Amino acid sequence: MLDSLNPISSCKKYGVSPWQCPQFLFVVMGIVTIFAITIIYFLAVLRIGNPTIVSLLVLLVAGFLLIMNFVITNSFERMAEASKLKSEFIHIVSHQLRAPLTNIKFSLDFLVSTRMVQTKEQQEEYFNVIQENSIRMGNLIDNLLTVAQIESSSFPLSKVEVSLEGIAQKLVQKFKFFALASNIKLMIFSADHSLQVLADPLWVEQVMENLLDNAIKYTKGGGEVIIKIYQKKRKVFYEVQDNGVGIPKEEQNFIFEKFFRSDNSFKKQTGGTGLGLHIAKKIIEKMGGEIEFSSKENKGSIFWFSLPIK
Ligand code: ADP
Repeated sequence: MLDSLNPISSCKKYGVSPWQCPQFLFVVMGIVTIFAITIIYFLAVLRIGNPTIVSLLVLLVAGFLLIMNFVITNSFERMAEASKLKSEFIHIVSHQLRAPLTNIKFSLDFLVSTRMVQTKEQQEEYFNVIQENSIRMGNLIDNLLTVAQIESSSFPLSKVEVSLEGIAQKLVQKFKFFALASNIKLMIFSADHSLQVLADPLWVEQVMENLLDNAIKYTKGGGEVIIKIYQKKRKVFYEVQDNGVGIPKEEQNFIFEKFFRSDNSFKKQTGGTGLGLHIAKKIIEKMGGEIEFSSKENKGSIFWFSLPIK
């Protein structure tokens, strides 16, 4: 708490020089303002003499300087915050891309250097690593492009009448083989087939697909994934329930953060970028809805979002 009042330590957080640091500039502008007001006061007393006009003049100058102070430090604060976010983003992205790239390089080195003594199984194993990691890099780049698009001010979102059930039926068809291969029962329940929301069909489908994909991905064989579509008040809900690995309680606060992947037992077995839920939250909020979840480790999770009814 006290640390936030110290301009030097606040400036270190942004990693910029003091003259670009909002907290330091705030202190400097404050000192300049006090000096300027004192000088104007004495000049006005000497030249004008009338105490009412002097007070008015000092008040006007003080008000003007305060507004300038606020505008300048505010815009510097936004610039410093953007620069900090940019460097954090570059750090995370380079780290996320480096890991699969290292795996690919290591596998290729192995395949090239021990060409003569490899068994067919060994070759297959290393080719699989290369394939999985190049898919992971491709997914990561696609997701990063989506994040950049969402964060830009001109994110294109249409609002048309959409049947969440219609999309869900399509997704069930698309995912039925994935579920079958993982020995997971996939079910869908809809109370009212006529329910419609106002949303962008492409983006809402992306969110629905991500929640379903996660539910299947993070459920062990023999499990169940249930999709429900229903109305409550003036909202339509899309809910995906699984009885999979769940999310540890202490990690639940971070689940919608960029690149967050829970440390549950499935992290290593499943490919992922940790961007899907972050993108889902941003998209649903931009469409005027809400997204939430509840989860218990080793018991399962329910993810749901709601959108205003048409
Ligand atoms: P990922 O590409 O890793 O799946 P997401 O942003 O979609 O990224 O999800 C972030 C993390 O949240 C996942 O890595 C996983 O640990 C956890 N998670 C998401 N959905 C579920 C679920 N249905 N059950 C258990 N864990 C989940």
